[in-house]
Amino acid sequence: MNKQPENAGPPDALTRLRGVGPQLESRLKNLGIHAPRDLLFHLPLRYEDRTRLTPIGVLQPGSRALFEGEIEHSAIVRGRRASLVVVVSDGTGRITLRFFHFRAHQKQQLSRGVRIRCFGDVRAGYQGLESVHPSYQRLKPGRDLPVADRLTPVYPTTEGLGQNTWINLTDQALQQMKDGSLELEELLPGAMTKNMRLPSLGEAIDYIHRPPPSADTEALINRNHPAQHRLAMEELLAHNVSMQRLHRAQRALDAHPMSKQAAHEAGFLKQLGFELTGAQKRVIAEIAHDLVQSHPMQRLLHGDVGSGKTVVAALAALKVCANGHQVAIVAPTELLAEQHLRVFTQWFEPLGIEPVWLSSKVTGKTRAAALEAINSGAGIVIGTHALMQEGVSFSKLGLVIVDEQHRFGVHQRLALVDKSRDRQMQAHQLIMTATPIPRTLAMTAYAGLEVSVIDELPSGRKPVKTVAVSNERRSEVVRRVAAACSEGSQCYWVCTLIEESDAIQAQAAEAVASELASQLNNIEVALVHGRMKAAQKQDVMARFQGGGIQLLVATTVIEVGVDVPNASLMIIENAERLGLAQLHQLRGRVGRGSKRSSCVLLYNPPLGELARQRLDILRRTSDGFKIAEKDLELRGPGEVLGTRQTGMMQFRVADLARDAHLLRSIPPVADSLLRHHPEQVDKLIQRWIGDAARYVAA
Ligand code: ADP
Ligand code: MG
Repeated sequence: MNKQPENAGPPDALTRLRGVGPQLESRLKNLGIHAPRDLLFHLPLRYEDRTRLTPIGVLQPGSRALFEGEIEHSAIVRGRRASLVVVVSDGTGRITLRFFHFRAHQKQQLSRGVRIRCFGDVRAGYQGLESVHPSYQRLKPGRDLPVADRLTPVYPTTEGLGQNTWINLTDQALQQMKDGSLELEELLPGAMTKNMRLPSLGEAIDYIHRPPPSADTEALINRNHPAQHRLAMEELLAHNVSMQRLHRAQRALDAHPMSKQAAHEAGFLKQLGFELTGAQKRVIAEIAHDLVQSHPMQRLLHGDVGSGKTVVAALAALKVCANGHQVAIVAPTELLAEQHLRVFTQWFEPLGIEPVWLSSKVTGKTRAAALEAINSGAGIVIGTHALMQEGVSFSKLGLVIVDEQHRFGVHQRLALVDKSRDRQMQAHQLIMTATPIPRTLAMTAYAGLEVSVIDELPSGRKPVKTVAVSNERRSEVVRRVAAACSEGSQCYWVCTLIEESDAIQAQAAEAVASELASQLNNIEVALVHGRMKAAQKQDVMARFQGGGIQLLVATTVIEVGVDVPNASLMIIENAERLGLAQLHQLRGRVGRGSKRSSCVLLYNPPLGELARQRLDILRRTSDGFKIAEKDLELRGPGEVLGTRQTGMMQFRVADLARDAHLLRSIPPVADSLLRHHPEQVDKLIQRWIGDAARYVAA
């Protein structure tokens, strides 16, 4: 061969595409894109409607729009930070463009007299309309530029990879698909696409990347187009089968049947001081039934905040201990794990079982002793994710209890199950979550797990009266705290700061604590936040529990698990910035005793539309399931499950709120694929979950 092609490599090498060199190739690979085929599945995140020019005079604040005009004025304004400010007018009105990041040449480009076309968010500024960092294009003098004739796709991307690159790359991949050099296998069963009248895979992909001018733009923008349904179906199916396969594989392993009755059970129930609810009894029976099987239990326990999951977990633990096996209990935060430690110690010490504690803050000799105890068979081990880390080894792990599962990824949970030296036998698993998961979401996220629900709160609980109060009336709220404390109640004052470091949160909470302490004489005020030492935190919590502290100022570290029945008033600062699920969790800290409880959502006006809706929902209902459904609607599933960080449920096209109606048709198809077409299942998982599914195969 004497002719060396410019871009060598296998036929499906990315470098064969125009514009792709080794550098871009490696960046793409980091995004999970290894071949042109993968580009087809790198789908637009959303669309922009650049098909219409809006006269500046009728631009609406809060909209995203395409507009053009002549630059009247442009200057670099020096403030705390220099910014480039450009005023554009088209005769109907004037708008100010602001660039906080800009290069020197941009100042020259955007000089007086130049005509530009912009696309961006429009907002109301101090001096009329503004747009911050719009995208823009300079117009040639005297020449009109046509507007786009179709929706413009916007691709998910990372820094330094512009939209033009994505358009160029997907253009080429789509071309290959159309001329047949790139083949796409249909993986959905024909019966399904036919019944649901879904387009073919190729049609759907082409449509979504490059909607034709005649496309139903509204449906596309709302992700409600059959082409999107087609892909969403496939993606949801892929997630479903991947989770099912994982759980089925687990279930096929052997586990020790815990068939010995726990001798202490009756005594344990007696000293609780309350009757179990019907729902608790039912769930306890379901778990007991699983535990005597010779395959590992994999059960998800849902129950709203305060429904009493802990005692259910304790009974399962008791049984496993009675059978001579170990129990590991993991919680996502130190504070919640400590709460479990306190409760379990109180319950189990009288029975001669002393729980062992492990968190990342346990170091040195104490750590060595804990590891040794775990290694030599301690009955109950409680801790944070530190339990999942290296160096922890159980001799005979029989049950793993994970609280607030959604904070952990599946692989993390399974890593813990793997920590037993008893290699032949798998531990049983009980997964507890207080975030009520809408059924639709559960069908996908937890496909293949058995589900138990505690759908009844202990009797005597009174709903928490919730009000939203503007921060302008803060002093009234402080007086209310004073009144409640003088009547013998205890209060939480929760300081919330989003996206700030622990340190800044702690600082803010300290400031609020001293502000309140100076305004509230005769009231014992204390502070708890994530930067405090475990012992310090524990001490404060114990004093609050004992009634020695009346007002506890806290960061959101108290979000989960803290249980002080005498606390009957909670103030949540900056409530407008929190999501529904988090507000519901926080509020669940009150209303646990016999007193009427209230929650004050303190907000900074003016309230945005979404925030107003959120606070409204909380005022109207305390039903966790209703709140979760709403949350899903307002925010999307990744947030509801809190998996943003773990990356467990990231969908490319599917949207669990909008596609809820599709979910119903998934389980039967998933079953049939798993049973009859395992090779299709592999391909589906590879296509939609790809690298992220590695743990599934493990
Ligand atoms: P969660 O489900 O949020 O984890 P917990 O297990 O912490 O709830 O229980 C909340 C509180 O309710 C605890 O103080 C617990 O002792 C109490 N509790 C649990 N079950 C009952 C019951 N059946 N009757 C009365 N109180 C109960
Ligand atoms: Mg709990």
